[in-house]
Amino acid sequence: MLFDPAPKDKREDFFDREEEIEELKLLSSPITLILGLRRTGKSSLIKIALNELNRPFIYLDMRKFEEKRSINYRELLIEMEREINKLSSKFSQLIEFLKRIEGVSIMGNQIRFKWQGNDRLSFTSLLEALNDFNKDLIFVIDEAQELIKLRGIDLLPPLAYAFDNLKIKIVLSGSEMGLLYRFLRIEDPSSPLFGRAFLKIELKPFSREEAIEFLKRGFSQININFTEYDKVYEEIGGIPGWLTYFGYTYSRTRDLRKSLDETFSFAKRLIIHEFENFLADKGEARKRYLNIMRTVSVSCSSWSKIKRELEAMEGITISDSVIYNYLKHLLDSSWTVKNDDVYCPSEPLIRKTFE
Ligand code: ADP
Ligand code: MG
Repeated sequence: MLFDPAPKDKREDFFDREEEIEELKLLSSPITLILGLRRTGKSSLIKIALNELNRPFIYLDMRKFEEKRSINYRELLIEMEREINKLSSKFSQLIEFLKRIEGVSIMGNQIRFKWQGNDRLSFTSLLEALNDFNKDLIFVIDEAQELIKLRGIDLLPPLAYAFDNLKIKIVLSGSEMGLLYRFLRIEDPSSPLFGRAFLKIELKPFSREEAIEFLKRGFSQININFTEYDKVYEEIGGIPGWLTYFGYTYSRTRDLRKSLDETFSFAKRLIIHEFENFLADKGEARKRYLNIMRTVSVSCSSWSKIKRELEAMEGITISDSVIYNYLKHLLDSSWTVKNDDVYCPSEPLIRKTFE
């Protein structure tokens, strides 16, 4: 069912994106990036591809760490342990490959990783062992930009090692594209991943036509007569997750106004919560970020207008480099987009939340 609000794992429940599914399934580069705003269907795309490929996989869901300001090696390894134990309950021979590396202990059939001391588990050795176990393995890190908060371990050398020497495939998804690039430092000549060619798959929001087709298909699946497609697109925009929520709500209420309002209040709660996470490490600048979001939501604004507004609100001069830095962070985390030198909210419900 198209309007099921959970992430999809079957193609028949997923609208369109056929090319993207096929492209992902090819895994034509050692590292594939799945990019797109929140709720454009990245996790669903990955789950569908994994299901159809039927290869062993590890799926790390980094959303768990969205509210944290930092992540340590222990926390990362706990997540890895859980996933690897899941895998080894299916493929018992995996234990034989892991046993050989330092920092791994086996209790019964449970695998434990050592995160501290000279003999702690090396992430590179772990990836090598997984590669020796099964070269078809796919290692997914969903919302991988969270890894930028990792302290006490640098994951770039193991990722680069895997890129250059191993057969296993790595899939990284990111809602905050700029942040993911900043983590990978692809364009930084001193980065271990510099110059590597990643396969990039981007999920864009639906266009008006696609959104209408999505709603048509969804309503016809559940035998509901619906005609107000344009109205829905104008109020909600093309983010698949919001359209799904709308369809789901409408199927219950059969009331257009009520369903639109409910979709917006649901979206607003989530967006505010996610913006709070974004602000968590912004300290004194919190108010300024909020003011910028308000300014660009009232109407898309140029750099100089944003500066003027901020300065007028505080009655002081703020230096260009400070403003530049705020705007960069908002762009990197996909809160805003920049078109023709004006900054806008990245999607309509973000605009509605802040205006
Ligand atoms: P992301 O991982 O990008 O945040 P999800 O895969 O969690 O997105 O999808 C968000 C919501 O939108 C889920 O309810 C999912 O079922 C729905 N969704 C996204 N894209 C589609 C699509 N193409 N067809 C049907 N439902 C979709
Ligand atoms: Mg997701």
